[in-house]
Amino acid sequence: MKFNTKVIHGGQKPDPAYGAVMPPIYQTTTYVQTSPGEHKGYAYSRSHNPTRNALENAFASIENGNFGLAFGSGLAAIDAILKLLKSGDEVISTSDLYGGTYRLFTKIFENFGIKFHFVGMENASNIESYINANTKLIWVETPTNPMLNIIDIKATAAIAKKHTVLLAVDNTFATPYLQQPLDLGADIVMHSATKYLGGHSDVVMGGLVVKDKDLADKLYFIQNASGAICGPQDSFLVLRGIKTLHVRMQRHCENGKTIASYLAAHPKVEQVYWPGFTNHPNHDIAKAQMGDFGGMVSFTTKGNILEEAIKFIEKLKVFTLAESLGGVESLAGHPASMTHASIPKEEREKIGVVDSLIRLSVGIEDAADLIADLEQALG
Ligand SMILES: *Cc1c(COP(=O)(O)O)cnc(C)c1O
Repeated sequence: MKFNTKVIHGGQKPDPAYGAVMPPIYQTTTYVQTSPGEHKGYAYSRSHNPTRNALENAFASIENGNFGLAFGSGLAAIDAILKLLKSGDEVISTSDLYGGTYRLFTKIFENFGIKFHFVGMENASNIESYINANTKLIWVETPTNPMLNIIDIKATAAIAKKHTVLLAVDNTFATPYLQQPLDLGADIVMHSATKYLGGHSDVVMGGLVVKDKDLADKLYFIQNASGAICGPQDSFLVLRGIKTLHVRMQRHCENGKTIASYLAAHPKVEQVYWPGFTNHPNHDIAKAQMGDFGGMVSFTTKGNILEEAIKFIEKLKVFTLAESLGGVESLAGHPASMTHASIPKEEREKIGVVDSLIRLSVGIEDAADLIADLEQALG
């Protein structure tokens, strides 16, 4: 089945009870048993719920995996992966990383004796010198947030395989429409389904997909034992979101390209970060591992003046000033004072998060209206 068909039908069948085409919202905690331990596969909704299972099957299908797991948030999904490890284990992670992931690693799991190395992975060979007998996991986010760096998943997977280390990829920014990490050799794909998979800025959720049965069993054990599951209503909403992922992503990519090109030609703009430009440092890898370049665009303004960046962002009318990304509506953010405010100025400037950096999540509105909005705000 091709991807555009999978998003609609993958892993789905009409509900066995009454033939409902969309899985009903099974808003129930428990299920009748005819005799102790005898039931129709469902006993308690932390362990299994039919609406959640329908979504988990859709996750597995669109990422070309065999097993999907849904969680109450993206961070809950990452938390479950880290619980595969034990004290003394080491993790090698992308350095330019979603702030909440960095916080989970350093403020929670370091306390349990897990050691993290944050490494610039734009050159995959940088990873190998950090590998030792305790290394259990390589954590990759690509494209990265907010600098839109690209990491070579295939090259990283080869290193992970060579040393029998698990490779997990946060595929939130790309979505399986653009990039399928399991096909490139990753062991686990992670999603903040809050973003493009949900796609309508109305639900917080996380997901994992794997191919391997043993790994799936371990993650399922953690999902059930730790209990960070999502509810049936939210499962329904994300399942509905996924059904239009391909058409939304196509427009996100078209609008992203139009806006990146517009900004690059604007006299007040210093630099535009977008992996579709041939002069992006990892453009060739992006071209090889992604079907298109996505709807995330970051840029800086000439002179790098904080007040001007704030003024620009306050003047936007169609773009909404807000955290998050991946919804149908366009959002703008100022990383230095929002997502990266807790990082000292010198540290954040080292990775490119300067005072004038603006991050756009380009939505699926008419591109002409988005450009007119940017034009009036830059003026
Ligand atoms: C938002 C996000 C997360 C965290 O997901 P939540 O659903 O907010 O918990 C992780 N990684 C990336 C890349 C994100 O954008």
